[in-house]
Amino acid sequence: MKISIEGVKSFIPNAEIETLLENQSHASESRIREIIAKSLDKQRLNPDETAALISVKDPELKQLILDGAHELKERIYGNRIVLFAPLYVGNECINDCVYCGFRISNQECHRSTLSKADLIAETQALVETGHKRLIMVYGEHPMYSPEFIADTVQTVYDTKYKKGEIRRVNINAAPLDIEGFRTVKSVGIGTYQIFQETYHDATYQKLHPRGPKSSFLWRLDGLDRAMQAGIDDLGIGALMGLYDWRFEVMGLLYHTIHLEQRFGVGPHTISFPRIEPAIGTEFAEKPPYQVSDEDFKLLVAILRLSVPYTGMILTAREPIAIRNEILRYGVSQIDAGSSIGVGDYAHKNEESKRKSQFVLGDTRSLDDVIYELAKGGYIPSFCTSCYRAGRTGEHFMEFAIPGFVKRFCTPNALLTFAEYLYDFSSDRTLKAGLELIETEIGKITDPNMQTSVKENLAKMKEGKRDLFY
Ligand code: SAM
Ligand code: SF4
Repeated sequence: MKISIEGVKSFIPNAEIETLLENQSHASESRIREIIAKSLDKQRLNPDETAALISVKDPELKQLILDGAHELKERIYGNRIVLFAPLYVGNECINDCVYCGFRISNQECHRSTLSKADLIAETQALVETGHKRLIMVYGEHPMYSPEFIADTVQTVYDTKYKKGEIRRVNINAAPLDIEGFRTVKSVGIGTYQIFQETYHDATYQKLHPRGPKSSFLWRLDGLDRAMQAGIDDLGIGALMGLYDWRFEVMGLLYHTIHLEQRFGVGPHTISFPRIEPAIGTEFAEKPPYQVSDEDFKLLVAILRLSVPYTGMILTAREPIAIRNEILRYGVSQIDAGSSIGVGDYAHKNEESKRKSQFVLGDTRSLDDVIYELAKGGYIPSFCTSCYRAGRTGEHFMEFAIPGFVKRFCTPNALLTFAEYLYDFSSDRTLKAGLELIETEIGKITDPNMQTSVKENLAKMKEGKRDLFY
C-alpha cells in the first residue's frame, strides 16, 4: 500500500471551531429551543448551532437538549435497538497509539492472529448464541492486507452452523488505499468504520508517534478513499478522552458535512467510545481529557440532534448503568455478549486479558442484555434486510423515507427477534420477549401489515426462518 497525501487538505478548521465555541457560549433559551426544533424537523445542524448546544451551561437547558434527543429517537426511530458483536481477528500492530493495548511498544500484549480454523470456531461460537451481525476488528499490520481482510470476511459469511449464520459483517480496520477498499468491498461488507480518534491535529501527532497511523491526513482522507472505491456505507468516530470532547463533537460534525458536500452522502454511523483501561497502558488509566458521565450523556444527545439521520453506536466499553440510561438519547446499535480478546469466544482463557485491547464495562451475555432490553420496552433487532435486499444506508432510509420504519424496520425487528427467541433464548427471555412482541403487534396501525406480521410469526413458530420485508 502506498501512503500518499498529495493534494489532501484538512477540512477541520481549528480556529473557526475555537471561535464558534467561544462566540456561541451565551445562547438564549429561545435559541436553544429553535435549534432543537430544527433537528426535530429532520434537518442536520450547522456548526454554529451545534456549538451553541455544546456551550450550554444551565442545567435546565441541558435537560432540554437531553429531552430533545429522546424525542427525536422516539419520533423517528422508535424503540428498536440493533444488536451486534465485535470479532477481533488479530492484534499484531505496527502503530504506537499511546492509549491502545495493541500498540507495537506494549511488551505486555500477547500477540495472535486467528487461523482459518480459529476464525470458523469464533464464528460458530457467536452464531450459537444467536448473533447475526458482526464487526470484525484488525490491528494494522502488513499481514492484514486487503486480501486477508476480504478472505476473513468471506470465511465468516461461509460459516453456516446449527441454526444460524452471520448475515452482515462490518469492518473496523486501518484506512486502505482505493484499490484496497475495492478488494474489501468485493466480498460484500456492510459498514467500513474508521475512527479519527482526535480531530485536533497537534494532539493527534503527539499520540500517534509511529507507523502509518502517524499521518493525520492519511487517516482523515480514509473515508474519502473508501467512497471513491464505491463503499458508501461508512462509520466515523472519535475516541473521547484524548482532547476536549467539545472540539471532537465539532470535528465529527465537520467530517459529516465534508462527506455530504463531496459525495452527497453523510456517515452511516457515528461512534463516540470513551477510553478504557488497557493492560500495560498507563495513558489509558487517566486520559488527559477524561469525559465525565454527565458530559458523556450530553455529548451523545448533542450528536443525536446534530446529525439526525445517522445511526449511533454505543459499545460495551461503557458500564451497564450508563448504557441503560444513554439508550434513551438516540442510540440505535449496541454490542452485546462481547469479548475483545483474540480467540475469546471459542476459548476463554487466562491469556484473554493480555490479548485484549482494553477492558469492557458491560460483560453481560447476549441473552441477559436482550432480556433487559425487552423488559425495558425496547425491541432487540437482528435485522439485516436492507443490506441483503440491496437497500444501502439503512439508517438514512429510516430517517428520510416517510413510513419506512413502519413498513420495514419494526416488522423486521419483530421477525428477527422472534427468530432469536425460538432458537437461542433462555426461558425467561422467551417469556419476556413474546409478551413484548404481542404488545408491539398491537401497535401496528396498518391492518394489512399487522396481519402479515402475524402470519409470518406463525410460520416461524412452525420452523420457517429468515423471513423479512
Ligand atoms: N487498528 C485499527 C485502527 O486503529 O483504526 C482498527 C482497530 S482499533 C483496534 C479500533 C478502535 O479501538 C480504535 O479506533 C480506537 O478508537 C479504539 N481504542 C483503542 N484503544 C482503546 C482504549 N484503551 N479504550 C477504548 N477504545 C480504544
Ligand atoms: Fe494499532 Fe489500532 Fe491499537 Fe492503534 S488503535 S495501536 S492502530 S490496533
